[in-house]
Amino acid sequence: MPDHPADTGETREIRLNPIVPAESVLVATARSMRPKKAEDLAPRDTRKHVETCPFCRGNEHKTPPAILTWPETGEWQIRMVENLYPVLGDDRVQSNFSFGLQQTIDGYGRHEVIIDHHEHGTAIHEMTESHLAALFVVYQNRMRQLFESDERLQYVLVFKNFGPAAGASIPHTHSQVIAMPVVPENVEAEVRNSAAHYAKHHHCIFCALIDEALTFEATIYDRGSGAVRRKINVGQYVIERGEHFIAIKPFASRYEWEVHILPLVHQADFLNAPADTFDDLARVLRRTMARLDAVIGGAQYNFFLHAVPHDKDQLAHDASYHWHLEICPRTSIPTGFELGSGLFVNTISPEQAAERLRAVEL
Ligand SMILES: [Zn+2]
Ligand SMILES: [Zn+2]
Ligand SMILES: [Zn+2]
Repeated sequence: MPDHPADTGETREIRLNPIVPAESVLVATARSMRPKKAEDLAPRDTRKHVETCPFCRGNEHKTPPAILTWPETGEWQIRMVENLYPVLGDDRVQSNFSFGLQQTIDGYGRHEVIIDHHEHGTAIHEMTESHLAALFVVYQNRMRQLFESDERLQYVLVFKNFGPAAGASIPHTHSQVIAMPVVPENVEAEVRNSAAHYAKHHHCIFCALIDEALTFEATIYDRGSGAVRRKINVGQYVIERGEHFIAIKPFASRYEWEVHILPLVHQADFLNAPADTFDDLARVLRRTMARLDAVIGGAQYNFFLHAVPHDKDQLAHDASYHWHLEICPRTSIPTGFELGSGLFVNTISPEQAAERLRAVEL
């Protein structure tokens, strides 16, 4: 029975995430290796307007008052409000708690909702690029305001759950902003490991991965027989390339259709991204989402922004950390194998996934 990638076109290998090695992925494309099945996902809501939806235009009285709107006058296109059910609350009088092995940190912070579009079920790839660019300006302005409002805040996480498969509890398209007094562990791991890489190699690992995605070319031979084991082609992980941003398929993708978008020029803090590059970011994101939607057939996903934390070490990480947007489409549900082993299982090789995404005609 052939078990070699070169023999069957199948891949079966454990790939280490180059930035966070603890996050490894089992890429197993052979049908017999599939430990999980793609689920029939509940369809997303595609209606333009829903009378009973608190986020639809005309129902503004059903939400807390707006923190900001875009545009500021006239009919709003984007609207930001407090979350009615925050996971972190405003100042509570409660101190950190520690007893033996049990420790808590005060759940202080802010939790806000950005209604991304006045239309109810509009997907990212259906929005105009100028609308998406405005959305990034809203993300940036609000992050800046939050950091300036309270020096205890170390991280502002901007994320979006789209579709029931991605855990979106309200079907109207929206993003969320959570400002917190701690740095989330997965961001901390990226920051820590990229700093260690920088100390050793004197360059940013994210920049190196972008360079590799754009230029890497290699042929790996089998040591015993001398046969070609794998050919790596130039640009095979690149999904979209703009003037300022690039969308790449990570070599060790946790999710079948995971794509990351990064600025081409090194930048640690999303707050420093020039607003005049957001048209390009919007274009790269919209085209990437259109490709995902075409290949998956209605993408339901989580996306989140990772940027350098505003903690005491922020300046030390300016050269080694590189902000990015991670897009994780949900096409299956994790199994006991994944939860028990901590190993993500990806049943489509990232190389093939990238090829299929690039092949979509836009
Ligand atoms: Zn709605
Ligand atoms: Zn960089
Ligand atoms: Zn990240």
